[in-house]
Amino acid sequence: SPRGASSCKTRASPGCGLQLCFDKIIAKEIPSSIVYEDEKVLAFRDINPQAPVHILVIPKVRDGLTGLDKAEPRHAEILGQLLYAAKVVAEKEGLANGYRVVINNGAEGCQSVYHLHVHVLGGRQMKWPPG
Ligand code: 5GP
Repeated sequence: SPRGASSCKTRASPGCGLQLCFDKIIAKEIPSSIVYEDEKVLAFRDINPQAPVHILVIPKVRDGLTGLDKAEPRHAEILGQLLYAAKVVAEKEGLANGYRVVINNGAEGCQSVYHLHVHVLGGRQMKWPPG
């Protein structure tokens, strides 16, 4: 079966340029529906939602974190902050019956935007294993 982009339905939006459009979302040059923000982290609704609730949680400063595979020891704190923010967002969205947290990494992981992001998906029954 095909690997990489041909088996991935996700696409960066047209405004995404060099697939670093989350910088533009942080700078509010691309409009987005922000659901949570603190000093380090921004969370906003996915433009192409795959569930009734589909939110992306990103670090405001990329610091080399194009993907999880680029993580270094210095990133441990922001990685924890992203995961904690995912929990806060899920709670704010009322996902009391459960939700899915996903990080797609690289071609075979169907990553399409190379600025680390945590997907929070909920509001419907998820399936396992994922596709
Ligand atoms: P990935 O495929 O890299 O795991 O996830 C990238 C996500 O970013 C996709 O779910 C896609 O719909 C979303 N996305 C791409 N461009 C934009 C955009 O301009 N605005 C928002 N809100 N989401 C975007």
